[in-house]
Amino acid sequence: MSDLLAAVNALRDAGIDNPRLDARLLWAHAGGDPARFDALLVRRRAREPLAYIVGRKEFWSLEFSVGPGVLIPRPDSETVVEAVLAAFPDRRLALDIADLGTGTGCLIAALLAEYPVARGVAADSSPAAARYAAENLKRFGLQTRCWIDISDWGAIAGHFDVVVSNPPYIKTGDIPNLEPEVALFEPHAALDGGADGLDSYRELALLIKRLLNPGGRTFAEIGVGQEKSVKKILQTAGFIDVTTKADLAGIPRVVCAQKP
Ligand code: GLN
Repeated sequence: MSDLLAAVNALRDAGIDNPRLDARLLWAHAGGDPARFDALLVRRRAREPLAYIVGRKEFWSLEFSVGPGVLIPRPDSETVVEAVLAAFPDRRLALDIADLGTGTGCLIAALLAEYPVARGVAADSSPAAARYAAENLKRFGLQTRCWIDISDWGAIAGHFDVVVSNPPYIKTGDIPNLEPEVALFEPHAALDGGADGLDSYRELALLIKRLLNPGGRTFAEIGVGQEKSVKKILQTAGFIDVTTKADLAGIPRVVCAQKP
């Protein structure tokens, strides 16, 4: 199917939202080779995410290496970075930052790029994800300021000024209803927040309380409609100044809180 119009139609028939754009990007990725292009089209028609096929995804103007086994960075998650920058406007601060469930390393990499003398610890229990995080930190020359731990976040020790996380927060029962790119291809360990979607926050509230220095702040991504419940979990755990920050669509996307 080296004919571009036929390719666009085939992608559209497969239910893909931007068939023209995807066809163009796949064509470029194939280097204009019709046989390679056909092979890439087969994968995309099966709804494999474009980012996995081309192996790249941009986040905070940095180009991350991605692939099967790691959650693809979403633009919504840039709200976490914005919230940290708003709370700590002085970029010369030598912040100690932890990123729990780092995935590709997008949050910690963006933050270390913004704070040139900050240091990071990033944890992910998935070895595949931790490998991507390590590769990405190195890509951006940030590896000397970041320790990547292949471990459950509960195994992280230390004292931090900032703790960020984009934890799994989808209700288990909702996962099959997500778009096929997500439900069929992305790692469920990065999505599944348990029966009510809030398991991660109950765990993180206690863990983050232990990891933060007094006065330290945490910033966690949340799903649609989770604002009230997550705020309550953090308030009950003793956090103060519990607020939310909205994403570009106006949806409360990040919960911010301070340890007294
Ligand atoms: N934002 C992702 C989605 O809606 C979910 C990521 C997560 O659970 N942290 O597909």
